Amino acid sequence: MSLIVLKFGGTSVGSIKKINYVAKIIKKHHHKKNKLIVVSSAMSGVTNDLIKKSKQISKNFDKFEYDVLLSSGEQIACALLSGALLKIGLKSRSWLSWQIPIITKGDHKSSRIISINKKEILKYVNSGGIPIITGFQGISNNRRITTLGRGGSDATAISIAKFFSADDCFIYTDVSGVYTTDPKLNSKAKKIKKISYEEMLEMASLGAKIMQPISLQDAMINDIDINVRSTFINSNGTKISNNQQLFNKNPITGIAFTKNEAKITLIGVMDRPGTAASIFKPLADNQINVDMVVQTSSPDGGQTDITFTIIKDDIKNCIRILKENKKISYKKIIHDDKVSKVSIVGAGMIATPGVTYRMFKALAKKKINITVISTSEIKISVLINQKNIKKAIRVLHKEFDLD
Ligand code: ADP
Ligand code: ASP
Ligand code: MG
Repeated sequence: MSLIVLKFGGTSVGSIKKINYVAKIIKKHHHKKNKLIVVSSAMSGVTNDLIKKSKQISKNFDKFEYDVLLSSGEQIACALLSGALLKIGLKSRSWLSWQIPIITKGDHKSSRIISINKKEILKYVNSGGIPIITGFQGISNNRRITTLGRGGSDATAISIAKFFSADDCFIYTDVSGVYTTDPKLNSKAKKIKKISYEEMLEMASLGAKIMQPISLQDAMINDIDINVRSTFINSNGTKISNNQQLFNKNPITGIAFTKNEAKITLIGVMDRPGTAASIFKPLADNQINVDMVVQTSSPDGGQTDITFTIIKDDIKNCIRILKENKKISYKKIIHDDKVSKVSIVGAGMIATPGVTYRMFKALAKKKINITVISTSEIKISVLINQKNIKKAIRVLHKEFDLD
């Protein structure tokens, strides 16, 4: 008898009709004589709505209460799902993470699971019951409710698979698996049958919302295979595992993009050792994450321009910190929040020369201007104007034979 973790995302439990449908999927797994642990997200839109409500109270809503508030969406979905299973004759009950408990550490809004008490859940599973566990949350050692970052139900599912040594972990969502790019943005996107942890982690970190990056890190470290599949269409999904795709004939596996970045340029910065550190240290001290950085060269050792990207939400704070920074001098700050980072990802590019050139050439042909570039072994990212995202993805998808 296998132990299987099933995670259902927000759209999968987005209405009563869908919850009843999910109950039938669970019943099918149960009939195959599997032991099941189910994780559910909040119904789609609920978490966003709770965030809006917190902002209506205060822009600086208390971080502890923020987690208590946000975690409530999952409670509703789990109780409804458990109720739906009971209605069709299965033994089920819901658990809030703190009842188990699922212990977390680290910052509120982005805590990490460090341990799970298996006793009660195992006893229930072994008695033929189906536990429905709230995703996205835990309890800290100080007995405060915590949440795991947006999309954090994935992290709960992976952690449960890890701590319970599950045989399989299914992530049920609203698309049929991981695609070469977001299928909602490009109709030519193709489903990927198998993808390595490294590539999937890179895609997710670069904006592919399908899986939470932290959950993938956990899966990679602990070698947990993940099956991503559709709740609504019965087809094989995508397997995320430790497979090597280095010899895949296609150098690029997928294309990811973000829309939540902003670009800041400091014009006329003194070009001397330590300047960059003086600019970025106070940003790091204030939890502002700097992503792409480019500095123009100044052959005469005079002045230079430094451009970098941050999350759009941080823009006001970042400019304030730069203006208050007495350790740096510059002529002007300019910023642009209508930018998007488009990235091509693929382990195959390690062994294929000319990928960068092909990317730049394809974008240039469509007159898409690149303002910042960053690369790693298996990805190339470019910053472009947001109005060109669709066009850029279409042309790159074709250029790298993903259509
Ligand atoms: P869930 O609520 O099930 O967790 P999410 O909305 O978090 O679902 O993630 C699924 C969404 O991810 C899809 O609807 C799709 O629009 C988006 N997505 C982005 N990039 C990709 C990709 N490469 N492959 C599949 N889906 C993607
Ligand atoms: N409900 C949470 C969110 O919207 C967690 C999740 O969906 O995985 O971020
Ligand atoms: Mg998600």
